Parts: sequence; structure tokens; C-alpha cells
Amino acid sequence: MKCEDVYLHICDHLDEDISSPRCRMIREHLDACPNCQAYLSSLKKTITLYKAIPEPSVPAHAHKELFKTISVLTSHRATPVKRKARSKGTTLRH
Ligand SMILES: [Zn+2]
Repeated sequence: MKCEDVYLHICDHLDEDISSPRCRMIREHLDACPNCQAYLSSLKKTITLYKAIPEPSVPAHAHKELFKTISVLTSHRATPVKRKARSKGTTLRH
């Protein structure tokens, strides 16, 4: 088994289906391969962090800005542009 194989199937490994032959091979590879050990531990860390956060935390001001931007964009889309485009004869391109 190569490192690529481990990377490809590491999700299965994380699902704790330890009895499967592939998972056993992954475990054997992990025991011998520091690269994959490091990869797996960082992956697990990422997943742990991801699960620890209940929902994406966006700073309040960024949140406000985001909604402002969205409302501007949607209001632009909702109401047709009444004034003429600056360049004559052409409409606004998206
Ligand atoms: Zn490896």
C-alpha cells in the first residue's frame, strides 16, 4: 500500500470500520509511515476543531457588511436599472 492509497481511503479509516481489510492495511501502513501518521493526526485535529465549532463564527461587523452587500446586490437585481448605461447603446453586462 502506498501513501496515496492511504490518503484516498483515509475517510473509511476515520469511520472506524476497523475490521475491513483495507482499513487494516491502512493501519499497518500508518504504523510504518511517519508521513501518513502526520497527515492523519492533522486531519483528525481538523475534524475535531470543525466539530467543536457549533457554527461558523463570523465577526459581527463582517456579518453586517455581508448582509449590506447582499441586500445591495439583491435590490440591484430586483429593480431594473432605470438610468441609461454610460456607454451608449449597450446594456450592462453581467
Ligand atoms: Zn504513507
